[in-house]
Amino acid sequence: MSKLNFKNKKQILVVKGDITQQKVDAIVNAANTSLLGGGGVDGAIHRAAGPQLLEECRQIGGCATGDAKITRGYNLPAKCVIHTVGPVWKGGKQGEDYLLASCYRRSLEIAAENQIKSIAFPAISTGVYRYPIAAATKISVTEVKKYLENENTIESAIFVCFSPEIYDCYQKSIEEIL
Ligand code: ADP
Repeated sequence: MSKLNFKNKKQILVVKGDITQQKVDAIVNAANTSLLGGGGVDGAIHRAAGPQLLEECRQIGGCATGDAKITRGYNLPAKCVIHTVGPVWKGGKQGEDYLLASCYRRSLEIAAENQIKSIAFPAISTGVYRYPIAAATKISVTEVKKYLENENTIESAIFVCFSPEIYDCYQKSIEEIL
């Protein structure tokens, strides 16, 4: 685990593990536009939260790429789930970087609106959506750092790494950016 403290007492943590086990106010889900469940981290979150999560997602009626929506966490240790939709990687010239940055920004904005103090992120878009991991971790560290420096509600952001490769990329991105 690595931990970075900011002057204003906020922190960024990088941990290895499973996001469904995180005891935080909100975990972020890398969902698809339907919000009706998928594989990867989305499948894991729905399995751990139980069927009521899908019920609530059905009521929302979808989410645009780059945007985010909040639900309760049901059987998860986390109180809430913020569902965001990352871009599918199409070579990098179709606004993927802007859309991925927007996922982090919108998730943080919605978290702050809901008085969330701790939030955990998976590496959005780096699974089935094939976003190159090193580029994705740079964007996520840049966006989260910017937000924590300028806003007050959120105190800690955790990057939860499901593979050693993702963990290494986060370490490198943090060394470069912070
Ligand atoms: P996307 O469609 O946005 O690419 P995926 O779920 O396929 O979403 O993958 C996003 C990232 O989440 C991948 O890096 C994958 O390794 C990671 N991941 C999958 N399951 C978990 C989990 N339980 N906890 C944390 N990260 C996970």
